Amino acid sequence: MACGEFELIERYFSNRQAQRFDVVKSIGDDCALLEPIPEQLVAVSTDTLVCGVHFFADMPAHALGYKALVANLSDLAAMGASPSWVSLALTLPEIDEPWLAAFSEGFFKAADYYGIELIGGDITRGPLSITLTVQGQVPKGQQITRDKARIGDWVCVTGQLGDAALALESLYQRTELPSETLEPVLKRLYYPTPRLLAGQALRNIASSAIDLSDGLASDLKHIAKQSGCKAIVDVGSLPLSAQLRDHVTSEQALKLALSGGEDYELCFTVSPQMLGSVETALKHTNTTFTCIGQMQTGEGIEFRLDNKPISDTFRGFVHF
Ligand SMILES: [Mg+2]
Repeated sequence: MACGEFELIERYFSNRQAQRFDVVKSIGDDCALLEPIPEQLVAVSTDTLVCGVHFFADMPAHALGYKALVANLSDLAAMGASPSWVSLALTLPEIDEPWLAAFSEGFFKAADYYGIELIGGDITRGPLSITLTVQGQVPKGQQITRDKARIGDWVCVTGQLGDAALALESLYQRTELPSETLEPVLKRLYYPTPRLLAGQALRNIASSAIDLSDGLASDLKHIAKQSGCKAIVDVGSLPLSAQLRDHVTSEQALKLALSGGEDYELCFTVSPQMLGSVETALKHTNTTFTCIGQMQTGEGIEFRLDNKPISDTFRGFVHF
């Protein structure tokens, strides 16, 4: 950016004390230099968020900075990795210093809390978009992937589903929510919690995992496909929050929980013999979880209610 890219980076992104011992060289040279822990795999994930596609133009900059990072941290959580380093490429239509100040404050709030260090990036001029590359580390052999679910494994999810989608319904003005309900669900949408500790606790326990960014109905399909089995989900057992159940019809609540997305909970599979270990491991990280189904032979996902495949009418309404 012609006018002061380096000053902007200095002012909002690089004037911070080094935090991690494994960053040999941070922002300011041609490359960052990192020193991974021996016998650890480096987990890398890149995401681009485009204004108008992935977020509304009027999304508060603080929330945007926070969420852009934690949405990526959620991918590390799904692999059982712990966060290490992040680089950030920002494209801005104009230099708006109050916006940049709020964005960087939100970004570093998450970065400092989760112990990830910004090691590089750039700022260019163009339509507003944010590209992040996060890197984490996981002991070799303990990574959790999408392709190791086995027939008979239980399907589980952490936390509750559908609140972020309920907040979006309200922002789109499709549902009216009282302020005491809107506030907590908007927090779930703008400041989601990446399940990093749960993901690490599930190393050597879960057979597969994925984070729920697009919604259970589409994310769980990836596990089924890559593991070569079929997921049976009992929609009656989905963990729905009280606010979701109270403010929309039960069909609508299921639709939001299954296809709303942006919950950033983990969906994982576990063999029946390991279920007790899940309980212990997740209790230690203060994470609730619910068994919602089981892997069987076949492919794709089947949704059931009261042990019967749900009707075509319902399926049409939920439209997976
Ligand atoms: Mg993901």
